[in-house]
Amino acid sequence: MKVAVVGTGYVGLVTGVALSEIGHHVTCIDIDEAKVKKMRKGVSPIFEPSLSNFMKKNIQAGRLYFTTDYEDGFKEAQVIYIAVGTPENEDGSANLQYVEQVATTIALTAKQDTIVVTKSTVPVGTNDRLRQIIDHNKLYHINIEVVSNPEFLREGSAIFDSFHGDRIVIGTNSERAANILAEVNRPFNIPIYITDIRSAEMIKYASNAFLATKISFINEIANICERVGADVEKVAVGMGLDKRIGPGFLKAGIGYGGSCFPKDTKALIQIAGNVKYDFELLKGVVNVNKKQQRILLDKLYEKIGNVTGKKIAILGLAFKPNTDDMREAPSIQIINELVKSGAIVYAYDPIAMGNAKNILGDTLVYMEDIGEAIENAAAVLILTEWDEIKNVDLTIFHSMDTPIILDGRNCFNVNDMEKHNFDYFSIGRKETKTTVPAALESW
Ligand code: NAD
Repeated sequence: MKVAVVGTGYVGLVTGVALSEIGHHVTCIDIDEAKVKKMRKGVSPIFEPSLSNFMKKNIQAGRLYFTTDYEDGFKEAQVIYIAVGTPENEDGSANLQYVEQVATTIALTAKQDTIVVTKSTVPVGTNDRLRQIIDHNKLYHINIEVVSNPEFLREGSAIFDSFHGDRIVIGTNSERAANILAEVNRPFNIPIYITDIRSAEMIKYASNAFLATKISFINEIANICERVGADVEKVAVGMGLDKRIGPGFLKAGIGYGGSCFPKDTKALIQIAGNVKYDFELLKGVVNVNKKQQRILLDKLYEKIGNVTGKKIAILGLAFKPNTDDMREAPSIQIINELVKSGAIVYAYDPIAMGNAKNILGDTLVYMEDIGEAIENAAAVLILTEWDEIKNVDLTIFHSMDTPIILDGRNCFNVNDMEKHNFDYFSIGRKETKTTVPAALESW
C-alpha cells in the first residue's frame, strides 16, 4: 500500500520505518529540512536501537522515502498518518496547533480518496474536530476519512515494540476504514482492537495515566519501606507475582519523566476538568511524582549540608536508558537546583549529552567518562540506569574522598555497597553508612 507519514519524531519515524519493513511504500514528511537530508542517507536523527539499520535497509529496497514536500508525499497515498507533536500548553492542556495545521494541509493537498490516521496523542474529540477541519478546507471532490490509531511504543525499544506490541487500537465509525487499517497492519501479527473514535482516544490517555499511577504508587511504597525497614525491590517482586497486578512499572525510583507521562497525565486532568470532573487520583499521581523527583536533593543536603562550591557528580541525564530524549528528564530540575545553590556540577551520560547541552547549556561540565565525572566529587547522584552505569567497577567510587552515592535508580546491590564501605542511599532500600575504623575514630 502507498502510505505517507507526517512528522518524523520518535513516533513518526519509527512508524514509517516499521510500515516499510512490512512491505508498504512509505514517504515520511517533515518540515525540518536538515533532518530530512540526514534521514535520506539512512542517518537517524534520534538515538533508538536498530532504527538506522532498518532505515538503510528499506531505503535501499526502494520502500522508504523522505521529503519536505507535502504534494510529493501525499501523491497516491491511500493512508496518511499524522505523527506530529502535541506538546503541553501552559495550563497543562494539549497543544493541538501542529495536528490541526497538518489536517488543513491534507485537505488542501490530497488529490485522491485517503484515510487520515492520527497517531499523535490527542484529547477526546480531536479526531472529530480534524474531520471538520478537513471537510471545511477540502479543495478536491474526494473522500477523506479520519481514524484514531494511538501509539504505545516505548522510547529505547521503539522498533522492538512496533513488531511485538500488545495491541493495535483502531478507532473509527467506518467499517471500510477499519478494514483498510486492519489490512495495513495485518503483517505485524499483533492483536487489533477496533472501537469507536472517542474510546480509542481515551484508551491512550487512560493507559498512560494508569502506568504513571503504578509508578507513583510504588514510589510511595518505597518511601514507606525506607522508614519501616522493608525492601521495595522485594515488595515489588512479591506484588508482581500476582497476575492481577503484574510485574511491569513497579520499579521505584526518582519518578517518571519523558515526553509522554508528564504531559499526558496533565492533559487528562484537563480533559476531565473540561467536563466538570475532578480527577483527584491522577492529581495525586502528578504531585507524588513532583515530590519524588526531589528526593535525592533532600538527601544530599542532609548528608553534606551546603553545596556551594562543592563538586557534585551526576551519572545519567536522559529520562530513561537507551534513549537520548531529555524531555522532562528529572535531571533537568535536579541540575538546575544544584547550580542555583552554587554547586559545581560534573555530568556524564553515554548518549544524551548533546540534547542535554541544548537544554542546560554550559551551566555544568560535561565529562567523557564516569571516572572523570566522579573524581574528587563530594557526592554522586545517579539519575539514569544505563547498563554502563549499572555495570561499573565499584572500586571507581574510591576516587572520591568520602564516597557518598545517592542512587535514584537502584543500580547497585546494597550488600556490595556496604562491603565497599560506601555511604549509599537508594530508593526504598536499606541505607548504608561509611564506618570509620575505631583507631581513626579516636583521632
Ligand atoms: P517529536 O517532537 O519527536 O516529533 C515531531 C516531529 O514532527 C518533528 O520532527 C517536527 O519537525 C515534525 N513536525 C511538526 N510540525 C510539522 C508539520 N506541520 N509537518 C511536518 N512535520 C512536522 O514528537 P514524538 O515524540 O514523535 O511524538 C509525536 C506524537 O506521538 C505526540 O502526540 C506524542 O504524545 C505521541 N507519542 C509519543 C511517544 C514517544 O515515546 N515519544 C509515544 C506514544 C505517543
